[in-house]
Amino acid sequence: MNVVVCVKQIPDPAAPQRLDPETKTLVREGKLILDDSDAYGVEMGLQLAEQAGGGEVTLVSMAPGGETSGLRTALAMGAAKAILVSDDALKGSDALATAKVLAKAIERAQPDLVIAATESTDGYTGTMPVQLAELLGLPSVTFAKKVSVGDGAVQVQRQTEAGYDEVQCPLPAVVTVTAGVVEPRYPSFKGIMAAKNKPVDQLTVAELGIDASQVGLAGAGQEVTEVEDAEARSGGQIVVDEGEGFQQVVQFLEQLKLV
Ligand SMILES: Cc1cc2nc3c(=O)[nH]c(=O)nc-3n(C[C@H](O)[C@H](O)[C@H](O)COP(=O)(O)OP(=O)(O)OC[C@H]3O[C@@H](n4cnc5c(N)ncnc54)[C@H](O)[C@@H]3O)c2cc1C
Repeated sequence: MNVVVCVKQIPDPAAPQRLDPETKTLVREGKLILDDSDAYGVEMGLQLAEQAGGGEVTLVSMAPGGETSGLRTALAMGAAKAILVSDDALKGSDALATAKVLAKAIERAQPDLVIAATESTDGYTGTMPVQLAELLGLPSVTFAKKVSVGDGAVQVQRQTEAGYDEVQCPLPAVVTVTAGVVEPRYPSFKGIMAAKNKPVDQLTVAELGIDASQVGLAGAGQEVTEVEDAEARSGGQIVVDEGEGFQQVVQFLEQLKLV
């Protein structure tokens, strides 16, 4: 069972984020970390390969400056190897361009299953995986809260507002997983040491046979024209409970027509 897991490497959300004043796109320099959303995908891939009694997990990532820190974290969890696409021409790529690049990289791995998170933590368009499935000519099942594989098919409990749907489709396929689908394992010291020597195949846009005018700012279908700071949150109403506090809370909820 060969599983490919998409891994986005993002600027640490705990650090202050910067926008490029010219392109108004997120500055993605220096050390990037494994997107938390993708730790669930990596763990899911490892468990499915183990349950299938063999096979391996290959990571695929598109990131600037040959950055591998986030990939090494996922390799330390137990993934076997990685493909990194890194090229200055990719700067400012939109979700469609990202899908085109990852599709070309994934074709090389010939996977039985492709896993991604429902949405990333920085761009969170939530559109890349389904565009990827379309470009690969594969079926996609999204918002998986439970995944199993058997008899050449994938079975998914697909999260809905009312609960979940039972969905099945033949392999190969693309599945997006929700946070909490599994509990990601912590890399062991042995895993961290082993990850240093695991192969990362680094590729450029040209090596994937992609025309540079199709990706990056040059190929983007949209342009960020203006960025405004989000409105600062107001302090909110403070209720001092001297026995009647609940009444103020009920009144507040009534005003919002919540009760
Ligand atoms: C604030 C902000 C707003 C943006 N708005 C838009 C927009 O409106 N339209 C648009 O087309 N682009 C937009 N982008 C760019 C977009 O984020 C990138 O193109 C990105 O690489 C793919 O989109 P996403 O992160 O939204 O993917 P999503 O669809 O949210 O990601 C879902 C999953 O796909 C996988 N994945 C996504 N990117 C990569 C990657 N580079 N390498 C490996 N796996 C990956 C991961 O598993 C991820 O969890 C925006 C970026 C930022 C930072």
